[in-house]
Amino acid sequence: MSDLLSFVKDRDPDQKEFHQAVEEVLESVMPVLERNPEYVKAKIIERITEPERLIQFRVPWVDDAGNVQVNRGFRIEMSSAIGPYKGGLRFHPSVTLSILKFLAFEQVFKNALTTLPMGGGKGGSDFDPKGKSDNEVMKFCQSFMSELFRHIGPDTDVPAGDIGVGGREIGYMFGQYKKLRNEFTGVLTGKGLAWGGSLIRPEATGYGCVYFCAEMLATKEDSLKDKTCLVSGSGNVAQYTVEKVLDLGGKCVTLSDSSGYIYDETGIDADKLAFVMDLKNVKRGRIKEYADKYSEAVYTEIDSTLDYNPLWHHKADCAFPSATQNEINGKDAQNLIDNGVFVVGEGANMPSTPDAINIFLDNKILYGPGKAANAGGVAVSGLEMSQNSMRLDWTREEVDTRLNLIMKNIHQACVDASTEYGMEGNYVAGANIAGFLKVANSMIDQGIV
Ligand code: NDP
Repeated sequence: MSDLLSFVKDRDPDQKEFHQAVEEVLESVMPVLERNPEYVKAKIIERITEPERLIQFRVPWVDDAGNVQVNRGFRIEMSSAIGPYKGGLRFHPSVTLSILKFLAFEQVFKNALTTLPMGGGKGGSDFDPKGKSDNEVMKFCQSFMSELFRHIGPDTDVPAGDIGVGGREIGYMFGQYKKLRNEFTGVLTGKGLAWGGSLIRPEATGYGCVYFCAEMLATKEDSLKDKTCLVSGSGNVAQYTVEKVLDLGGKCVTLSDSSGYIYDETGIDADKLAFVMDLKNVKRGRIKEYADKYSEAVYTEIDSTLDYNPLWHHKADCAFPSATQNEINGKDAQNLIDNGVFVVGEGANMPSTPDAINIFLDNKILYGPGKAANAGGVAVSGLEMSQNSMRLDWTREEVDTRLNLIMKNIHQACVDASTEYGMEGNYVAGANIAGFLKVANSMIDQGIV
């Protein structure tokens, strides 16, 4: 394993997040490589860690004050072994090649788990939509798509949203693609309902993550009913996680953004959630305003001098990290365990550091890694592509039923793979092995390409 890891690290020594994601997968699949030397001979690891194509481009645009701005755009086409590249676009100032490569790498295995024919990719920009006018966001999105359109297409690469990319941004990018290509095709997912979108796509990641946790709990003859849940983030994934937890009889008591978090011991009910959705999606405000409106809630600002996040330091049963990568460190993980948390469902991608993961595994809690637990978003993106190809729209119930079934299947695939390799109950190993086998076998079938 150390040789394989060195191979990856030596090539791009500064890509720490990418190394972290590769190391986690390598640890899980070592027993698979030992049992199947054909994967070693075919250099599957060396090939799977190298993007098939990596596109980087300049994104110039003019702000409302008439100043020229220059951002950087990326698309990483990681693997097309089982279908067209598929994965979100992230607009956030923290975006780097390392972050996007880790996300693209994770996406390959996640998409394989969904049972749908999708390869893996990811892209984005260091552009920050926060504080920008709608006009500025539109100008940026049009400039971004003026280059990206050359590289994507409904049978080639189909991007979606991620942090900083929601319905508004997808709309502006879709409009520009359509104008440049003179084609109305399913080239992006997360589209508006009137122009090719799928019902349940906005809800899918959060709902899917809660369905996955319900499946894990069912193995212990338990459910989400009356469970107290900690949720981080207050964007797309967090909002629909809260909605589904409420639906299944649980209670969420926290939400956050990059400035701080709220703790509402009485629970975020449907009315309060509607307030959050309006605050975040329409007014584009800060989570602090929740505590200004509801006096029972306490707001705590982020304190960067602390070596732990106080959000993860409350009594609860479940935790749903739904903001960003590495938001739970070893200390946070220990705090969660000490406060009674025994279910973790990762709505975000790679929110737990390697130390945190080890603590979850050592304590044998129900830990659903992002690759499996948050695959509902891309799964419904896959269903959006199917509906676009058929030029048909399924009902809300039909999409939700399919989503629930896909999450059950992913859960079962994790259980089966971990059991086969003697690591029962370890969903990290299960997800990595099940995803890896499907992609590796397809690569072998298709020869050295
Ligand atoms: P949104 O942009 O809708 O929301 C992101 C939320 O996380 C915001 O509340 C944001 O706060 C907060 N956040 C972002 N970066 C940081 C940071 N560095 N520190 C603290 N808080 C931060 O994104 P999504 O809800 O779509 O995505 C959240 C996570 O889920 C990401 O990890 C994403 O990759 C993952 N994911 C998303 C899917 C989807 O379908 N959307 C699918 C699968 C995974 P602020 O507003 O202050 O920036």
